[in-house]
Amino acid sequence: MKPPPFAYARAAGVPEALALLRDAGEDAKILAGGQSLVPLMAYRLARPSHLVDIGRITTHRYVRGDGGGLRVGALVRHLELERATGLTGPWQALREAAGRIGHHPVRVRGTCGGSLAHADPSAELPVVAAALDASVTLQSADGTRTVPAADFFLAPFITALEPDEMLVEVAFPAPPPGLRSVFEEFQVHSGDFALASAAVAVALDGDGVATHVRVALGSVGPVPVRAREAEEALTGGRLTERAAAEAARLAASAAGAAAGSSAASGEVPGGGADFRRELVRTLVTRALDRLKEKS
Ligand SMILES: Cc1cc2nc3c(=O)[nH]c(=O)nc-3n(C[C@H](O)[C@H](O)[C@H](O)COP(=O)(O)OP(=O)(O)OC[C@H]3O[C@@H](n4cnc5c(N)ncnc54)[C@H](O)[C@@H]3O)c2cc1C
Repeated sequence: MKPPPFAYARAAGVPEALALLRDAGEDAKILAGGQSLVPLMAYRLARPSHLVDIGRITTHRYVRGDGGGLRVGALVRHLELERATGLTGPWQALREAAGRIGHHPVRVRGTCGGSLAHADPSAELPVVAAALDASVTLQSADGTRTVPAADFFLAPFITALEPDEMLVEVAFPAPPPGLRSVFEEFQVHSGDFALASAAVAVALDGDGVATHVRVALGSVGPVPVRAREAEEALTGGRLTERAAAEAARLAASAAGAAAGSSAASGEVPGGGADFRRELVRTLVTRALDRLKEKS
């Protein structure tokens, strides 16, 4: 199938993109890597009146440290994150997650901003954003605002973005001392969307006691799910096998609750609720094992 007709403009910079978006009205769409939008248009599931192509803007293609935190420009490609060898310790989950997105050609073109804006419940990067307490910067011709990831993802494929706004950056705050993060997911075939994923971040003090824990899950609900009971169970204790097993059990139960409390189980294909809960239990156990090994 071919997409219906649309107007097309390529922006040389962010100000031009924002002016084009404002002038084109609310049926305009940003085109970044095109890896999600173009297939949707081809199937006529998206029918934008205008496309504002930001794919060649170079100013927002950066990954840089900032006072202990990290800033990633919206136009950074998944492959660039995957190959950013400096993304270790607190940022390792970001690098690992980027490397699990689709196939190589998808990662060459797909952008970090596009993945967050698209808000697929099975996408990897929103899960990492939730685990690392990220926030996104949204810009329009009228100004700029910053939205925590927890408030950005509203429903499958729906975010807090207004039609005239561009997501320009994702920022990760300075991590607590000793924070490390890892990402785990299960795909039926390499390159498939994940049936379940987990980004886990843990800071251990000098005695091996967890002072900060985040467990975020993907593909189990309409938006990334924080397994708060698992986080609380681990905080203040050591990462023993028993503690990890209990946290994994609690994370699996959070996944079950998220699927049960929404239409998500129907929207995220592949496997029943019990299977998905078991996947989460395994993924969180694996993640905690890896974090324990490195301590
Ligand atoms: C075969 C295949 C497999 C894939 N597998 C995975 C996978 O396993 N995991 C995964 O996460 N993704 C997967 N994807 C999707 C891929 O990661 C996309 O790159 C990503 O979802 C969107 O990024 P993009 O830059 O291509 O955005 P586009 O397709 O250009 O845009 C997607 C949406 O986001 C909006 N948008 C884009 N950038 C911005 C911005 N800066 N500000 C505001 N709105 C913006 C667009 O208007 C559009 O609505 C797959 C895609 C394909 C084709």
